[in-house]
Amino acid sequence: MQQILQQLNIQQINKGVSTGGEWLDSTGGTIESYSPVDGQLIASVQQADRQAYDAVVAKAQEAFVAWRKIPAPKRGEIVRQVGEALRQYKQPLGMLVSYEMGKSLQEGYGEVQEMIDICDFAVGLSRQLYGLTMHSERPLHRMYEQWHPLGVVGIISAFNFPVAVWSWNSMLAWVCGDVCIWKPSEKTPLCGIACQNIIAEVFKKNGVPEGVSCIVQGGREVGEWLSADTRIPLVSATGSTRMGKAVGAAVAARMGRSILELGGNNAIIISQHADIDMSLIGAVFGAVGTAGQRCTTTRRLIIHESVYDTFKAKLVAAYQQLRIGNPLDTANHVGPLIDKDAVNNYFSAIEQCSRQGGTFALEGGVLKGQGYESGCYVKPCIAEVTNELAIVQHETFAPILYLIKYKTIEEAVALQNGVPQGLSSAIMTLNLREAEYFLSAAGSDCGIANVNIGTSGAEIGGAFGGEKETGGGRESGSDAWKAYMRRQTNTLNFGTDLPLAQGITFDL
Ligand code: NAD
Repeated sequence: MQQILQQLNIQQINKGVSTGGEWLDSTGGTIESYSPVDGQLIASVQQADRQAYDAVVAKAQEAFVAWRKIPAPKRGEIVRQVGEALRQYKQPLGMLVSYEMGKSLQEGYGEVQEMIDICDFAVGLSRQLYGLTMHSERPLHRMYEQWHPLGVVGIISAFNFPVAVWSWNSMLAWVCGDVCIWKPSEKTPLCGIACQNIIAEVFKKNGVPEGVSCIVQGGREVGEWLSADTRIPLVSATGSTRMGKAVGAAVAARMGRSILELGGNNAIIISQHADIDMSLIGAVFGAVGTAGQRCTTTRRLIIHESVYDTFKAKLVAAYQQLRIGNPLDTANHVGPLIDKDAVNNYFSAIEQCSRQGGTFALEGGVLKGQGYESGCYVKPCIAEVTNELAIVQHETFAPILYLIKYKTIEEAVALQNGVPQGLSSAIMTLNLREAEYFLSAAGSDCGIANVNIGTSGAEIGGAFGGEKETGGGRESGSDAWKAYMRRQTNTLNFGTDLPLAQGITFDL
């Protein structure tokens, strides 16, 4: 790991505030980053203090004035080079993601690949920031709309996608002409340092003004500064619903804009018409992948009563085959939870589930002994429940899978929708009527609805996000870029009269 840290220019003690030039001094205290893989201290990072934070925002504002003047395709060319740099750093960055966050090495590399993909997407987008043209009701008038850069974008990210979520936001924001200030999760600060170093190299080579890519390390307090800051027109926040409610309220109170990407409580409906083997793979990967720490993790399986027992038996057998251990060893399926607090939350949810009437088809527990010294490795478990239990309505960020029985497709959809969150959903069925019903307006109420694919693992080409307590934000593909720009409607009169709209006359 020492060699990886060196390649990414990470020191034992790192400054945590930068505008793209030299790293700045700050006295906001220190974050120590311990790996959930083996419990070892990896390195530490200085947190931003208010003075350093204010200096960063001022620099970002200054940079915006220059950056917005650069033609979008030229900004796209710089993002193309960022993609190239990420290709070059894919191996060390992917390993750091895996070691600092605890996801499997394959998923660590996958996360960096997602960053590369969004760079490619953003490069194309930089030539397609189009507006519409409308016909004016007035003669010799032209009416159209254009999209202008917005300004400074604040990005608050969660620990579980420590680099990809930042890139979904920043690559789009940059081609749109905005500048970014990133506050990474305090649980994965080194991933932030590594990304900032990679970007700084590319930006320096291209003479990009200091302040286009900024980073301010710290915890909740730094996030609160960003949320309340009137100099920041857009805050994109990814994390728990609790955090999103606070950020959303603070940003709205100052009439700013927010993109909220919050918790999910995702279900797969397993119909009696499902391909059972395919459903099993989808369910197990969705529930235990990233140790249940994806916003799109499958938390509930809503299974038709006629296949319930068969499916449960297959599921339990599949879970018994899972190898839990060091995520850097590709033979393992399940790695650790992020920290001991997450382990406590896992146990608390298991206890609440039993108390509320759930029964366990497969018990949980924490693994001890050699290879499990960090104390963060837990057993994926399966509980049989009803949907209305308080614990089932709540997102627990751990590999606990709830099984629920249904009779009719209408009931299954109502159960799937019957939670406060609305991120990802899926149905496994070979029946066309069921599939179309699930995708119809009367079907899933989530931002993502899949057929014969599990709930996790989105592609960057589509807009990503969810409804209800998931926050309503959209990031990444499709037309999500519009959130990073301001729309302006223009009407231009090339005639010699001044006709008013709606036939109103005003003669002098
Ligand atoms: P978290 O809410 O604890 O923290 C997320 C970020 O918000 C961190 O950077 C944290 O410092 C900051 N923060 C916390 N409170 C804040 C406040 N009051 N004001 C401003 N900033 C604040 O979440 P986490 O444990 O890092 O991540 C797990 C959660 O993130 C899960 O709920 C998961 O579903 C969600 N998530 C959602 C998506 C999505 O796209 N919908 C993606 C990844 C993770």
